[in-house]
Amino acid sequence: MTAILRFAPSPTGRLHIGNLRTALFNWLFAVREEGSFILRFDDTDRERSKREFADLIATDLAWIGISPHKTIRQSDRIPLYDAAAEKLKAAGLLYPCYETPDELDRKRKRLAARGLPPVYGREALRLSHAERAALEAEGRRPHWRFLLPNFGADPFAPQRTDIVFDDLIRGETVIDLASLSDPVLIREDGSYLYTLPSVVDDAETGVTHVIRGDDHVTNTAVQAAIFSALAASVPRFGHHNLLTTVGGEGLSKRSGALSLETLREEGYEPMAVASLAVLVGMSGSIEPMADLGALGARLDFAAVSPSASKFDPAELDRLNREIVHGLPCEAVRGRLAAMGGRDEDAETFWQAVRANCDKVADAKGWAEIVFGDMVVPAPEDAAEAAFRAAALRLLPDGEIGPETFRTWTAAIKAETGAKGKALFLPLRRAITGLDHGPELGPLLPLIGRERLLRRLI
Ligand code: GLU
Repeated sequence: MTAILRFAPSPTGRLHIGNLRTALFNWLFAVREEGSFILRFDDTDRERSKREFADLIATDLAWIGISPHKTIRQSDRIPLYDAAAEKLKAAGLLYPCYETPDELDRKRKRLAARGLPPVYGREALRLSHAERAALEAEGRRPHWRFLLPNFGADPFAPQRTDIVFDDLIRGETVIDLASLSDPVLIREDGSYLYTLPSVVDDAETGVTHVIRGDDHVTNTAVQAAIFSALAASVPRFGHHNLLTTVGGEGLSKRSGALSLETLREEGYEPMAVASLAVLVGMSGSIEPMADLGALGARLDFAAVSPSASKFDPAELDRLNREIVHGLPCEAVRGRLAAMGGRDEDAETFWQAVRANCDKVADAKGWAEIVFGDMVVPAPEDAAEAAFRAAALRLLPDGEIGPETFRTWTAAIKAETGAKGKALFLPLRRAITGLDHGPELGPLLPLIGRERLLRRLI
């Protein structure tokens, strides 16, 4: 059986690193199983879903390297959900309810006062035809609840009904359907909540595995019951731990914090983001993986921690730095081109500066120093001024080549007696204006005689 996976974001905001964890768990598993991956937009919430967000989510996934085999939108598939709802209604499994949010709230408070769990008592199921007609005549519109199979003969006497499933990640998981309220599947305005469309789509598209956050464990019990009610086979479920901020707060699509868009704009490499999104909260070291293939080889459901994991931006910085330090010039040539300098100098320049860059964009500062017309600060004292004068005088004639720096520093050392830090630091300051930076030897030919002279004089 070919594995078919899906990632099903609601397009109500940008993806954050926690959403990416879900997307990658599904994508990497699908690729490893040589299966397929569906991107499904859960956009039945007409008010909050936006087409722009759907497009931007696809862009964010493409940046990471996730290219869905198929993209579907729930808003295009309403007739399928209508057919499923009709089927459930005909079987007496979807029933109309007329309580207002206030009435439901009062019911929950009464239950709480009696020390009972806030489970809906199925009062609407007792309504006669005439009572429903009267409520509708008052202008009330029904919302529709699914009758959970948690009773014997009498729906008003629920009994413990364990749904047991072998979670791909958490192992055996048990949810008692008697502990849950009948879920609302259709709102008063006739729109669908995500619960039923998701089941219909998973069944219709032949999804074999559903991997999602562990905030959906209870939904899984409900949805397993709906699959069965629709005579569809239940996919294999897996629930992974969620990511939080360092402060322990949940991530939200609407807050924009740690969104892939922000991380991309801040100049992080996609593999740094992807590596952390998958490897955090999993036993084993958090290392930057070279590509999604290598990351997929690290995906191990048995190693996923059972509790929430903190996403630490400092860790992302570390992974990014390690990736940048190893990037070949080819991977950054386009980005370097926008920073100035000639294409034929790119290789030498990148090899010299990459170890001094936390992000590829940091090379811009070095490009300005190497290729730009920066002005170095004046010498701090007479000694430094004298040193610069000597350096200027001793700069070897002719074209500046890869060996020039060695010859030059040897000559300065011979004349001034300066060596080690006392030699290299004032020279570095004279050339770059800074106290630290990449090795100057390979950069000197790129800086060139003209710029050097301008800085030393
Ligand atoms: N749209 C749901 C969500 O974003 C999908 C959950 C699922 O994967 O079934 O939480």
